[in-house]
Amino acid sequence: MDILISVIIICIFFIGAFVVITIHSRQMKARRALPLRHLYLQQHPSTGCSRCASTEQREFGLDDNQDPKRIIACAACGKELFQFVRDDALA
Ligand SMILES: [Zn+2]
Repeated sequence: MDILISVIIICIFFIGAFVVITIHSRQMKARRALPLRHLYLQQHPSTGCSRCASTEQREFGLDDNQDPKRIIACAACGKELFQFVRDDALA
């Protein structure tokens, strides 16, 4: 009986880890598919968020805070808007 409980707990752990990794993988795939800045600005000439029209934005790196690939998201609703590469990373 103890072995059965241990096996169930281990299975729950692995299923939970699989779900977390799958969700994270989907989020990263969606971020990599975001339009580049100039394409986004062509489609949305106003600089506000396409969902809530807020003009406040936050910026973060794709993989970590130092990543030259930057993601811009709405500070109000959190919608990720576009990506760009830092100019100093191109030099
Ligand atoms: Zn927004």
